[in-house]
Amino acid sequence: MTNALKSMTVQTAREALRAAGLRSTTSRVAVLQHVASASKPLSHADVADVLVPEGYDKSTLYRCLVELADAGLLARLDAGDHAWRFELKGDDDEHGPEHPHFVCVDCGKVTCLQDVEVKITPPKKAAAMGAVTEVVLKGHCKECQ
Ligand SMILES: [Zn+2]
Ligand SMILES: [Zn+2]
Repeated sequence: MTNALKSMTVQTAREALRAAGLRSTTSRVAVLQHVASASKPLSHADVADVLVPEGYDKSTLYRCLVELADAGLLARLDAGDHAWRFELKGDDDEHGPEHPHFVCVDCGKVTCLQDVEVKITPPKKAAAMGAVTEVVLKGHCKECQ
């Protein structure tokens, strides 16, 4: 992994929340900061593992993730195992707005594929397809291969 851990200051997190129309609460700031510093999409369990020991409430954390995703601050990813993963929705190089993800079918590890571009050109009037919101590639990760 070459992704450098990015840190988001409390100030930046608050501003992002306000810009998205959300009140800045300590839980929301903590969740946003935590997801922003991660190099891969995080599930609710991943976030809870770190923030519950710090005194945050597990169900509040889940609500925060959903609220942040609904407000457009986080991208929600369904890796196919019925557990949502969340990642920062940004427009910089590190977290491009639309990048595919690789999911290991053995261990469930999700990796961001920033350097891979998958272009889908839907045929005109592809009513059955609707809008493509995410691309998930599945396979076996290096450790499981
Ligand atoms: Zn694996
Ligand atoms: Zn990603």
